Amino acid sequence: MKKMVSKKRKSIIIAGPCAAESEDQILASIREAKQRNVDFVRISLWKPRTKPGFDGLGEKGIDLLITAAKMGVNPATEVLVPEQAQIIIDKLFRAVPNAKLLLWIGARNQNHYIQREIARVVAQDKRVLLMVKNQPWTSEDHWEGIIAHVLDGGISRDRLILCHRGFVPNGANPHGYRNIPDFEMTRKIKQMTDLPIIFDPSHTGGSVENVLKIAQDAGKENLDGMIIEVHPNPKMAMTDAAQQLTWKQFDELIVSMRYVV
Ligand code: PEP
Ligand code: MN
Repeated sequence: MKKMVSKKRKSIIIAGPCAAESEDQILASIREAKQRNVDFVRISLWKPRTKPGFDGLGEKGIDLLITAAKMGVNPATEVLVPEQAQIIIDKLFRAVPNAKLLLWIGARNQNHYIQREIARVVAQDKRVLLMVKNQPWTSEDHWEGIIAHVLDGGISRDRLILCHRGFVPNGANPHGYRNIPDFEMTRKIKQMTDLPIIFDPSHTGGSVENVLKIAQDAGKENLDGMIIEVHPNPKMAMTDAAQQLTWKQFDELIVSMRYVV
């Protein structure tokens, strides 16, 4: 199939629901992602929550990653510890040896030892990309530190992607963003590291209206794509219902950002 989400510049598009909730929800998401030929479908199995609540399907959702790969769509999920990375790699590639996989380290996961050990596991398999999100609080130094720690784990630079998800507001926030982007910092980090940086409009925006606006702002920057939450039925989402787009909204956004030719 022709690549529908294509390249006004080299871009990585990861789209799908905040959390894997059920087989039906993920099958619907895989089908939609496949039609658009996005680079990865977001099927996040582990959800760190501020307070205890639904925290993902966990290991029993690995079959859904395998289903995506069998349907020809590359899966992406957060992992919290190296053991989760290892078990996904073992099971996914045993079932679908030619799959590609993206694992990411989330903003809340700020134990540098764990970051490095996840990178160490990912480094061992060329079919896996590692994405690291910036930490929640504003600090260029800390963000650089995360990058240094994962590189120390042996991940090669051509399989490492950074993701900017904004910083927790600490002062003026006229748009009411959930997290405030710092594009000056992304420019610096990009220049300094020469690594691709994608943007997360969902966790910066916090509401559909903000997500659509902030994605356009980020589109003016020299960034390398985005990870965006899209749900088959956002109103029923078990996590982050307010910020998840419908696939129709996703299509309109992608067209307006000229990702589609
Ligand atoms: C997520 O991407 O699921 C998420 C919780 O975002 P962050 O780690 O950026 O807070
Ligand atoms: Mn979310």
